Amino acid sequence: MKRAVIAAAVLALAGCTVVNEHRAPPADWPQLEVTVEETGFWETQEKCGRNVAEVILIGPMLGCAYINFDEMRCRIYLWLNNVLAHELLHCRGYDHYGSSDLRDYWETWKKENQNVQR
Ligand SMILES: [Zn+2]
Repeated sequence: MKRAVIAAAVLALAGCTVVNEHRAPPADWPQLEVTVEETGFWETQEKCGRNVAEVILIGPMLGCAYINFDEMRCRIYLWLNNVLAHELLHCRGYDHYGSSDLRDYWETWKKENQNVQR
């Protein structure tokens, strides 16, 4: 459940600002199975965790990357195709500028899974 919450937090932030391509992703970032799904406007908002009020106040999500380390998958939901390259960078472990959400999620997941294995 905690993981799902972290994933949701990652999800909500993905796709909103500029990816920091100058800061390398974690060296041990895993190879994720990437899927891309083109979704309609409201479906994209729903998948990307943005409600109607947020769409009005902040603006719509163009797309997002939903990373799940339990499944080792990165699901991309796209309303506009021109954010595909951006979302693919998230699948490879790149965070937004000033953010470490993906790195933090990976570090947390690793710790939790080490504990499970012992
Ligand atoms: Zn993004």
